[in-house]
Order: sequence, then structure tokens, then C-alpha cells
Amino acid sequence: LDHMVDEVTTGVEPHVGYKKVLVTGGAGFIGSHVAEFLLERGDDVVTVDEMNDYYDVRIKENNLQQLRAKYPEEGRLKIFKADICDEDVMSKIFEEEGPTWVCHMAARAGVRPSIQDPYVYIHSNIKGTTHLMELSAKHGVKNFVFASSSSVYGGSKSTFFSEDEVVDNPVSPYAASKKACELLAYTYHHLYNLNISGLRFFTVYGPRGRPDMAPFKFIDRVSRGVEIQQFGDGSSSRDYTFISDIVDGIVRALDRPHPYEVFNLGKGSGTSLKEFIDLVQKHTEKDAVIKVMPDQPGDVPYTCADVSKAHAMLGYKSKVAFEEGIRRTVKWYNGAYNAKELEVCPELQANGMGRAP
Ligand code: NAD
Repeated sequence: LDHMVDEVTTGVEPHVGYKKVLVTGGAGFIGSHVAEFLLERGDDVVTVDEMNDYYDVRIKENNLQQLRAKYPEEGRLKIFKADICDEDVMSKIFEEEGPTWVCHMAARAGVRPSIQDPYVYIHSNIKGTTHLMELSAKHGVKNFVFASSSSVYGGSKSTFFSEDEVVDNPVSPYAASKKACELLAYTYHHLYNLNISGLRFFTVYGPRGRPDMAPFKFIDRVSRGVEIQQFGDGSSSRDYTFISDIVDGIVRALDRPHPYEVFNLGKGSGTSLKEFIDLVQKHTEKDAVIKVMPDQPGDVPYTCADVSKAHAMLGYKSKVAFEEGIRRTVKWYNGAYNAKELEVCPELQANGMGRAP
């Protein structure tokens, strides 16, 4: 395959019962952590990522580099650079690699950019997911787990989000694309008996976190003495989920195939913006330069995941307290992230992503 970037393995013989898992978006934040976890417990992993420049691609290259460094020999980890919508390449990957499990994390993420450029979200998220489900049905995949998002609750009136809610008012192309994936997933389950679980993640943060998201931005900016914006009086509250809890939930969903289910994966409790900023100050040992802004139109005071369904059906329970998660993220930022000396290209700096000069 021309698109192969690298192919590495530890040379360990596959054990009976071990899985071969296709992890899409494997160079991204969540996908790279899932791939690492699966490899560590003995599964074989095939990653596919198009390495787009939504944020600095060197962060993604670093993520893959870390996997390569841990699994430098041939056989257990295969890494492909490809668009999941590319029919020829993806068909070849399914034919030649024969993954029996799919963990589909690839997507164009981000709510606000989806308003500027909706077509790329339709392409990667809706077309890409449909294409993977087609191939999975055709190749007898045993379980297909994909990333949905808490953004599907966008138009909801409630603040404690439960999967039972009928949500049909997504308020951005990104949210609509994730809702469309959930609907198509039901169709593929119905038509082909494909086992599918959609996981609605609530703001995920941690080491290797995305530079366009608030947790990374706050830690980065406070560390460098750059101003951060606080909307409203700081009392608004969100559900932030540490990466290891999300990986735990994803792997539980992979290990327990369901005909068709949608699960919330979150911490299950909220943290106020003020508390968030206080903890970032405490662990960076820096004072934040805060610019107080008026509340954004449409902002809701409190949102939180009801994780009782994931707890009952998957045994999922968030384990990492918010302060501990921030402590570990700051530690990574000060150590591994800074050590990479990632130079961020000027366009990204202009968008406030990554590190300023
Ligand atoms: P990420 O951007 O770090 O990872 C996604 C990866 O998918 C990227 O590396 C990107 O290059 C790749 N990709 C995008 N389109 C592709 C395509 N057409 N073909 C191949 N690769 C493609 O994002 P993340 O935070 O790791 O998110 C993973 C998944 O979780 C996404 O589906 C996202 O929508 C969802 N999600 C994330 C969060 C969060 O808080 N991080 C919250 C809700 C949902």
C-alpha cells in the first residue's frame, strides 16, 4: 500500500482471544491513547489517519512517533496515512489487514470551525463513517464503536443530559454530523446486524490534548502569562473528562458488543469555570491574566453527563478527579510537551492554537 507510513511490531505472537482493532484517527488525541492502551494489553492495532492540519500536524506525528518508539518491531502495530473516505485504500486495508474490531475516532472536530466550513465535516464525519460501516458490514466486523459527541444535546432544554432524551436540534454542522452518524449507525445495525455503539464524549482533556480546546489553551496561556477569557462571572459549569476515563469507556464498549446503543461518556459532574481557572493557576504556579467577557448568547449555566447507562451496561465509572486530571495535564505540558520543542506554524499561532513564539 502506497499510503503506508510505517509498519512496526513487537514480534509477539497474537494470543488467542486477542483482537485486531482498526483505530481511525489514531494519530489524534483520543485515538492515539486508545491505540496505545490496546497495544499494551496485547491487541494488534491498525491505525488510519489522514494527518490533516486542523491543528499542528507535528503534534500528530509526535503521537505516532511515541507509539512507534514503544512498538518498534514488526507485526503488531500498522500505521497508515489515508482519508477514511478513500474507497480504494480503505478497501485494501480491510482486505489485507482483516480487522475484526473497529474503533472509529477519526472526525473533523470543533464546533465553531464547522460553521465556517461545513463541507469538510460532511465529508469526514458523515461520508467517512458511512464508508467505514459499509466496509465493516461487508467484512464481518464483530463490533463497531465510534465517537459521537455531547454536542448532539445542543438544542436540549435540560442540563443533565441523558441518552433517553430525544434530541433533534443540533446547533452546528459538527453536532448535526455526529447526530447523522448515530442515525446511520442504527440503519447499518438494522440492515446488516452490525454491532454498533456510539459514544457521546463530554469535553476530553489530558496529556496530548487538542490545542484548540479550553483545557490545553488555559494551561498553555496561563503558563506563558498570556491573557485568558472568562465568559460571565465564572459560575458556569461543564463536564470535563480525563483521557484515561474516556479510554476506559471506549475499551469497555469495544469489549462488550451491543446490537445498537448510544452511551454518554463523561465525568458525571460539573466543574465551574472559576474552579477550573483556580486549579490551572495552582498547578502551573502562575497567576492567570483574566479578561472578563459578557456571557455568550446561548451559553447555558450548567451541563453535565448522566453516565448511569454506561455504568449499568458497560461498568463504566469515571475515576480521575478534576484536580488530579489538571495536575497530570500540567505535568505533561511542562515535561513531555515542552521537551518536543514543537514549533507551531504562523497560521496556527494566529488562531491561538499551540504555542506562541
Ligand atoms: P483529533 O482531531 O485529535 O483526532 C481526530 C483525528 O482524525 C485527527 O488526527 C485527524 O487527522 C483524523 N481525521 C479527520 N478526518 C479524517 C479523515 N477523513 N480520514 C482519516 N483521518 C481523519 O480529535 P480528538 O479530540 O482525538 O477526537 C476524537 C473523536 O472524538 C472525534 O470523532 C471527535 O469528534 C470526538 N469527540 C472529541 C471530544 C473531545 O473533547 N476531544 C469531544 C466529543 C467528541
